[in-house]
Amino acid sequence: MSTILRTESECLINGEWVPGDEEFAVISPVTGEKIGSFRAATPEQVTAAVTAAWQAFPAYAASLWTARERLLRRLRNLLLVHQDELADIMIDEVGKTRVDTVTADIMPAVETIDYYLRRTPAVLAPRTLRHFKPPLWGKWGRIERVPLGAVGIISPWNFPVSLAIAAIIPALAAGNTVVWKPSEQATLTGLAMARLFAKAGFPPGVFNVVTGGPAVGAALTASDIETLVFIGGTAAGMKVLQAMAAHGKTAILELGGNDPMIVLEDADLDQAAVGAVWGACANAGQICSGVKRVIVVGRKTADALATKIVQVASGLKMGSGRDPAVAIGPLISAQARERIHAFVVDAAARGGHVLAGGAIPPGPGFFYPPTVLADVPVDSRLWQEEAFGPLIPIVAAETEANAIDLANSTPFGLSASVWTRDPEHGMAVARRLRAGTVMINDHSSTWGDIRCPWGGFGLSGQGRIHGDEALLELTAPQVVVADKPGKPKMWWYPYSAGKARFFRASVDLLYGGLASKAASLAALVLKPSRQGDGATDPWKTTTGED
Ligand code: NAD
Repeated sequence: MSTILRTESECLINGEWVPGDEEFAVISPVTGEKIGSFRAATPEQVTAAVTAAWQAFPAYAASLWTARERLLRRLRNLLLVHQDELADIMIDEVGKTRVDTVTADIMPAVETIDYYLRRTPAVLAPRTLRHFKPPLWGKWGRIERVPLGAVGIISPWNFPVSLAIAAIIPALAAGNTVVWKPSEQATLTGLAMARLFAKAGFPPGVFNVVTGGPAVGAALTASDIETLVFIGGTAAGMKVLQAMAAHGKTAILELGGNDPMIVLEDADLDQAAVGAVWGACANAGQICSGVKRVIVVGRKTADALATKIVQVASGLKMGSGRDPAVAIGPLISAQARERIHAFVVDAAARGGHVLAGGAIPPGPGFFYPPTVLADVPVDSRLWQEEAFGPLIPIVAAETEANAIDLANSTPFGLSASVWTRDPEHGMAVARRLRAGTVMINDHSSTWGDIRCPWGGFGLSGQGRIHGDEALLELTAPQVVVADKPGKPKMWWYPYSAGKARFFRASVDLLYGGLASKAASLAALVLKPSRQGDGATDPWKTTTGED
């Protein structure tokens, strides 16, 4: 392994590497053995990182786009140079397959940087305000997008490179400074990435890293951070939202999903079978937007699809991603495996049928086979909660309307898919689904198309990453308006009955129909003397000609 990806210390604070305190063991899910360790940041170190980020903020926010562009481009190139080393770390630390490291981590990460290199100046360009409506004529100004300040980022382990990059890059591109806490289950990958950021040359305090688990994340939410991008489970996301709200702050939340895949009667079942197995089993089923429920219109179609799904799922090679032909790696931990096995046992106890898999295999590591279940009851944990493993529950719906109701029947709303030979019809079904992303004849892969905003409804979160939206979420509009000196305004003091009548008539003149425009014009211009209180001309109360 190249030395660039190795570090002896765990926290990057104000440009310095400093050691953490409490030790965490890193257990490879592939073997179940310890492959390393790291020490978590102390609460004081979290405070120091946030302070450093605030101190670096004014200069970094004021820096020219060309300076930020240079740093981001350097980072991009370093990522490309070290992609294989990063992939090896991910394979050993979180159990990825070789293909998943490339398609879902490295490629989207580089795409993300390229996208914001291209889009940032245009999206954040100031808008000029010139000809204000009367009575504001003469004013001019602009609406600028300004960075928010020191931004906290907390990320999960399942796509440790691309998810972190999706939050960090728009934040930095927009001129914010960052304190990042990678997942405690992907800290070796996180520290390797942090080395690349340090090597790219970001000024001290602009990009800071604190390592550790939920306690360190909680310290970040309790800190003086301006806002937070949280990517992780719904339960933790709710705690983060409460902690941020307690001191008047908000957060972007990218949380769990329980994605439906709706298969219509006219679908290409061979395509749908491979799509279902990939959507449910890629990354060992540990994808927020993976296929979590297959809903098929018609009993005959459901049975035919189940047979094909079992065939495809049974052919997947399980093992370490060091073998590039491996299609399915282990679950992240022994606890994660026990949890999804309990989902299968619960679904079977409630009347579901296990058609393939469903047993913990012998041997080292935390592997679980692709598991196909039919007739999964809607009151099962597998239907109601987010399963995070290679499970493929299939249910038959009587009609398309029933299928849509079933799809929308959980509190999540991250992504969904519709499978049909009629894409136009698929689009119509998509409009009735409550999901941040809906694909027709594919599932979830807009993650790799950075133009597409990413996020969900309900318990799947709030706010968006990716796309121009991320830049807008991580900046705020600032309005600056200028006027000529020496002119009191007509709506300022003194007030009078004449001025009140004038403004009342102005409402009709500006916004009314033709008849009321004419009447108000007459009242204002043709017969001002009838207003008769000695202050008939409101303009006289001003000294200028506004
Ligand atoms: P997790 O919620 O256990 O942890 C995520 C991160 O939050 C970790 O860094 C963890 O240390 C931190 N954390 C946990 N509790 C915290 C607290 N109280 N305060 C602050 N930080 C806290 O999730 P995970 O197991 O790492 O990842 C899997 C989950 O993430 C799944 O639910 C998955 O659907 C979701 N996810 C969502 C998206 C998305 O884009 N919507 C993407 C990937 C993963």
